[in-house]
Amino acid sequence: MTHATIVIGGGLVGMAVANGLADAGHEVVVLDEGDDAFRASIGNAGLAWVQGKGRGAPAYAAWTRLSADLWPEFAESLRAETGIDIEFSKPGGFDLCIGDADAEIRSRKVEALQRQPGGGNGVVMVDRNFVKERVPDIGERVVAASWCPEDGYLNPLLLLRALHRRAADRGVSYRPGVRAERIAPAGGGIRVDARDGTTFVGAAIVIAAGLGNAELCRQVGLNVPVRPVRGQIVVTARQPIFLRHPTSTIRQTAVGSVMFGNSEEEAGFEPVTTGGILARHAERALLEFPRLADAAVVRAWAALRIMTPDGRPVYDRSPTLPNVFVATCHSGVTLAAVHARVLGPALGRGEIPPQCAAFASARFDVPAALGT
Ligand SMILES: Cc1cc2nc3c(=O)[nH]c(=O)nc-3n(C[C@H](O)[C@H](O)[C@H](O)COP(=O)(O)OP(=O)(O)OC[C@H]3O[C@@H](n4cnc5c(N)ncnc54)[C@H](O)[C@@H]3O)c2cc1C
Repeated sequence: MTHATIVIGGGLVGMAVANGLADAGHEVVVLDEGDDAFRASIGNAGLAWVQGKGRGAPAYAAWTRLSADLWPEFAESLRAETGIDIEFSKPGGFDLCIGDADAEIRSRKVEALQRQPGGGNGVVMVDRNFVKERVPDIGERVVAASWCPEDGYLNPLLLLRALHRRAADRGVSYRPGVRAERIAPAGGGIRVDARDGTTFVGAAIVIAAGLGNAELCRQVGLNVPVRPVRGQIVVTARQPIFLRHPTSTIRQTAVGSVMFGNSEEEAGFEPVTTGGILARHAERALLEFPRLADAAVVRAWAALRIMTPDGRPVYDRSPTLPNVFVATCHSGVTLAAVHARVLGPALGRGEIPPQCAAFASARFDVPAALGT
C-alpha cells in the first residue's frame, strides 16, 4: 500500500491543497481529468475578494479574511520559489452603487455585516467623492460604493501555473487525463479506480474535483450537492491604466486589458456565452466607466462556478471512510492562500481545521431531515 495522499482534481482547490500537503511532508498524487472537464479555474475573474463574503456566516467571513491576510506572503513565496509573478495586488476594492436605491440596499447589507460577530472585515460605505479620488473615471450615476481595503486581485492562470510548478518542485506527482470514477476501501488504504482502467491506492484521499465532487462524495457517504452556476466574462483590448482598484464587476489587468462581468446564471452544464448577458455586462460596465465605450472587445467566455446550496465552502470527512475528505468552494481564487497554508497541512494531519467546523456538509441534510 502506498502512503501517498491522493488529491482528485487539479484545479485551484486541488492544487492549493496539494501544495499544503507537500509542505507538510506528505507524498502527494494529483489525479486530474483535465481538458475535457469543466474547469472554473481557467475561466474566472481573478478577484481575491473579501467584501460580500460571509454575510450571515461569520465563520465564512473570518475564513475569507484569513486568506486575505495570508495572500501577500503567499504570492511573494510563489514568485520567489517558482519565478512566476502572479500579478497579485491588494489595493482595496469597490462595489459601486448606481443610483440611490442601489446605495440604500447596499448600506443595509454592509450594516448587517458590520453588526455580526467578528465584524465586517473592514467593509464600509463611502460616498462618490471617496471613490472619485481613487478612481477618477467613474460614471455620473455612481453615487456611492462599499469599500473594502482587503480586496485584491491576481492573474488566475498564472496562479494555477505557479501552484502546479511549486507542487512539482516539491515532488507532487501530477497525473493528467485521469478521471477518478470509484472510491472504495482497499486493505488498510483506499482505492481510486479511474475510467482508463488504472487504479491508485493511497492512505488518504482529498476530493477536490469541482463539479465532479457531488458524484464522488456520494460514494463515500457525503452529501455535497454542488451545481453549476454560469458566469460570462468580457475582455477588452489593452487600455491605458485607469483602474487601480478593482470593482466587484470590473478589473484592469497588469497589461491594461479590462475584464468585466459577473453574471450568476442557472444554465446547467452549458458553458456558452449569450448575447443578452454580454449586452447587460456592457451596459453595466459603461455605467461604471463610460470611457469603455470606445474600448475594443477582444474576447468573451463562459465558465461554470461550483456552487453549494448556501454558497459557502464545504470541508468535510467521509463518515464511511474516515481518511477521505472533500474540499470545495465557489471562491477558489480568494481562498487559495488559506487552502495552501492552513487547509492542506491540516488535512495532512487528518484534521479539518477547527475554524472550519461550520463548513461540514451535514448542514445540507437539515431540510431533508425536517421533511421526514
Ligand atoms: C465566471 C467565473 C468567475 C469567477 N470569478 C472568481 C473570482 O473572481 N474570485 C474567486 O475567488 N473565484 C472566482 N470564481 C470561482 C473559481 O474559479 C472557483 O472557485 C475555482 O476555480 C474552483 O476550483 P476547483 O479546483 O474547485 O474547480 P475546477 O477549476 O473546476 O477544477 C476541478 C478539477 O477537477 C478535475 N476533475 C473533475 N472531476 C474529476 C474526476 N472525476 N477525476 C479527476 N479529476 C476530476 C477537473 O479536471 C478540474 O481540473 C469564478 C468562477 C467563474 C465560473
